[in-house]
Amino acid sequence: MSGDHHDDALLSRQVRRLETLLEEKGLVGRDTVDEVIDGFLAGASPVNGAKVVARAWTDPAYKARLLENGAAAVAELGFDAGGVQPQRLRVVENTESVHNVIVCTLCSCYPLRLLGPSPGWYKSEAYRSRVVRDPRGVLAEFGVTLDDGVRVTVWDSSAETRYMVLPRRPAGTGGMGEGELVGVVSRNGLIGTGLV
Ligand code: FE
Repeated sequence: MSGDHHDDALLSRQVRRLETLLEEKGLVGRDTVDEVIDGFLAGASPVNGAKVVARAWTDPAYKARLLENGAAAVAELGFDAGGVQPQRLRVVENTESVHNVIVCTLCSCYPLRLLGPSPGWYKSEAYRSRVVRDPRGVLAEFGVTLDDGVRVTVWDSSAETRYMVLPRRPAGTGGMGEGELVGVVSRNGLIGTGLV
């Protein structure tokens, strides 16, 4: 963990130095970088992912399109999975026999615009290394215990491909409409460190 903080501090210093240089040379205005970042993240929140899940739970044809081509299906609802460049979004469905978890073992790739900024633990060295070696151990720490028969699949994100988990619709939600179902879905459920 301390290695991570060290790397973050080093990276922050390098970014600040680069910003200062660009400003000194008149290449970008003082507020340009902040404006670009604010614009990029405007409206980015796990609620977007929850809306996608609620639609998939209530509309089987939408769910099929979502699993086939995630980026196109979230765009139908006005959401963007990508970053600065277009990215593939692969939506992985939890079932009775498979539970999916996402990680970026290399750094911290995450569908930012669909799920908002990633939680701190997602970027931690501890999560990134351990969830691959011992997914059940890590899930237990998040309070998720799965039956022995359930296979855990860990998906490693990259610059080109981002992932989102489609959680199982909980029992007892049969009477809920799409709007109400949005409130059932948590950010951890969309990463796979929660059941829903
Ligand atoms: Fe990454």
